[in-house]
Amino acid sequence: MTKASVLSAPKVIQVLDFEDAEPDDNSIIGRTDICGICGTDLHLYEGQMRFPYPVILGHEFTVIVEKIGKNASTLEALGQKLSIGDRLAVVPGTSRFCGTCFYCRFVPDRPQLCGNRRVLGVNMDCRNPPHLFGAFAERVVVDLLRWYAYKLEDSFPRELGPLIEPMAVASRALERALPPGRSSSWDGFGLGKKVVVQGAGPVGLLVTAAARLSGAGSVTVIEKVPSRLKMAEEMGADHLIDLNSFETAEARVKEVLRLTDGVGADVALECVGLPAAFEEGTRMVRRGGKYIEVGHYVDSGAVELRPNVICKGDIDVSGSWAYPPTQFRTAVELLGRHFDRLPFRRMITHTFHFTDVPKAIETIRSGEAVKVALTA
Ligand SMILES: [Zn+2]
Ligand SMILES: [Zn+2]
Repeated sequence: MTKASVLSAPKVIQVLDFEDAEPDDNSIIGRTDICGICGTDLHLYEGQMRFPYPVILGHEFTVIVEKIGKNASTLEALGQKLSIGDRLAVVPGTSRFCGTCFYCRFVPDRPQLCGNRRVLGVNMDCRNPPHLFGAFAERVVVDLLRWYAYKLEDSFPRELGPLIEPMAVASRALERALPPGRSSSWDGFGLGKKVVVQGAGPVGLLVTAAARLSGAGSVTVIEKVPSRLKMAEEMGADHLIDLNSFETAEARVKEVLRLTDGVGADVALECVGLPAAFEEGTRMVRRGGKYIEVGHYVDSGAVELRPNVICKGDIDVSGSWAYPPTQFRTAVELLGRHFDRLPFRRMITHTFHFTDVPKAIETIRSGEAVKVALTA
């Protein structure tokens, strides 16, 4: 039997047993190694996203391969054969799954826009066999034809597993600011460019790290929580703007201008998820700069802004929604090569058993955690 924490209605978690099964030809069965909890999980838990219950949450996870279907051993993305005992990072969103929607057929570089995208741990009804579609459970079943997985080296620290998916989000957001093939053009992100990161939650911290590792010039992080400001500094931020000292948007914009030769940042990224931050951020970017919106995975309301700021500024504003599955390779490389240099491991501030979901969520709500992980 396999135990799983099932979200059967908003705020109702039941620990249920599921029959063990054999994987079909293209699937593997993995024992959950570790799984992170993110903002999306909180929204799902509270019932703010309209997805069908019951569902097993958990989309930021690694598994240890326990059983391999007949054809599945050759499906792992980096071309190595899979073996029992391998540790895999699983990309939760399907890739080119439906093959019939506009995006699958005509926008192949952005498979994450597929209208029929299914995300493990998010919108997979667990009443359907093989049931185990999320990682707040002892095991997960992954059809490797529909979902990508990346094999992790033994040296990859186990506790960084929950950061792979958020690093995919963060690194892709930063890459949205890369100019195509012209990085010395002062168009967007590149070596020596000045970057502003609004918010030092998990995504903001990982954007900070990705910018630092990619050769940013100065990185300025704006945040309110002291422990997060400190962590941002350790992740490579050169300047911190503490909301407790810079209380108004005007004061913060002025400080960014002071730190960027009076012109504004080359690139700014909104990683807060509050509409007001978006308006503020558009004023922190220099003329001809880039502004990336990655904080609003859910609709948290509206804000008034002056389109003139964007028009006159000649600013490129880009949204960043998830990532293509290949972004996991970038994330695994960044984390796996640099965990000695940057304190990624300290981002996992709390670990709970996967049957303790309500307690884990309470801890996140209390504001003391950066990233909370669950283990089986
Ligand atoms: Zn997430
Ligand atoms: Zn599609």
